[in-house]
Amino acid sequence: MQSRKRILVTGGAGFLGSFLCERLLKEGNDVLCVDNYYTGSRETILHLLDDPHFEVLRHDVTFPLYVEVDEIYNLACPASPVHYQFDPVQTVKTNVHGAINMLGLAKRTKARIFQASTSEVYGDPAVHPQTEDYRGSVNTIGPRACYDEGKRCAETLFFDYHRQYGVNIRVARIFNTYGPRMHPNDGRVVSNFIVQALRNEPITLFGDGLQTRSFCYVEDLVEGFLRLMAAPDTVTGPMNLGNPGEFQMRELAEMVIALTGSASRIVHKPLPADDPTRRKPDISQAKAELGWQPTVPLAEGLAKTIAYFEWKLSAGSGPWRD
Ligand code: NAD
Ligand code: UDP
Ligand code: UDP
Repeated sequence: MQSRKRILVTGGAGFLGSFLCERLLKEGNDVLCVDNYYTGSRETILHLLDDPHFEVLRHDVTFPLYVEVDEIYNLACPASPVHYQFDPVQTVKTNVHGAINMLGLAKRTKARIFQASTSEVYGDPAVHPQTEDYRGSVNTIGPRACYDEGKRCAETLFFDYHRQYGVNIRVARIFNTYGPRMHPNDGRVVSNFIVQALRNEPITLFGDGLQTRSFCYVEDLVEGFLRLMAAPDTVTGPMNLGNPGEFQMRELAEMVIALTGSASRIVHKPLPADDPTRRKPDISQAKAELGWQPTVPLAEGLAKTIAYFEWKLSAGSGPWRD
């Protein structure tokens, strides 16, 4: 009989991690969530704590970790620009030392290991939409570099451990993802706009609002994670995972105002340094290799996310169930 897989999820108490842990448990696995609660919280995983197949360990991945597992999903890293720029040195350490430790663990246990990389490896892209063979345009010394270069170095480490030690790797380049359980204060555009709209406060549009992003609903993304992990060993990535629908931030603000029926007005704030002007994934590789593509349109995913924030801003705490 095939025994249950033991799966480690680092950053499991974060936004994406909580959905991933939930899905992996549903699929019949034993899940070990490792998190230092830097940006995550026990609240995102409260509803999983009674599950006998779920275990949580408070631990910082920049320190070694000795556990026995079959698969590792390495998600530990603050993801919003406000959070990752709060302590940039720690962001680099989490990306680089964290990757080394998790790769060392994968090498020793022969576990398959997945890396949550990012569209930020493309920087402010000169190629549009972004294909995996585009090498990116990143300012190595700018305020976003701790994240962008940290993730780039993590990719380097993944491919070096793969070539040098035969570690079984999967590298996903994740594009902007949104959904319930995003932090209300983490500064990302979807959570900012929704919280502002629900409070009838001004919507803060940075720059002229013509910059674009492509937004993927969280459950679509997690489906992509599982498919990439289950793919044949030759499918290492790096592979773009995201929703190719491209929207200007001005359009997003208008959609959120319409969907919430808010009285909020748009106010313009300065564009942060090195803010990419456009971003849209080419997902041909994911379609061909995984048969994957997103299914949730932006308006539908936004409605679910708005419902979550309405609950969050009124009830405040406790486990959120869809
Ligand atoms: P998040 O901030 O909600 O979650 C990150 C989790 O990692 C948190 O629970 C945090 O406490 C934990 N963490 C941070 N540093 C740690 C450390 N040193 N040791 C242990 N735990 C640590 O962010 P998210 O949106 O869930 O992102 C998860 C992963 O996906 C990140 O690696 C991020 O870079 C990547 N990603 C996310 C997006 C997105 O749009 N959400 C896009 C691209 C890539
Ligand atoms: N490591 C870990 N857990 C393990 C195995 C290794 O955290 O189960 C860490 C270990 O501390 C080391 C890092 O992963 O610093 C890289 O491991 P590797 O075997 O590549 O390097 P070495 O131990 O030879 O320095
Ligand atoms: N943004 C904005 N208002 C906000 C927060 C963000 O206009 O309150 C813009 C930001 O300048 C960027 C886009 O929205 O162009 C996406 O920002 P986010 O921080 O969500 O993600 P990232 O820049 O990492 O893609």
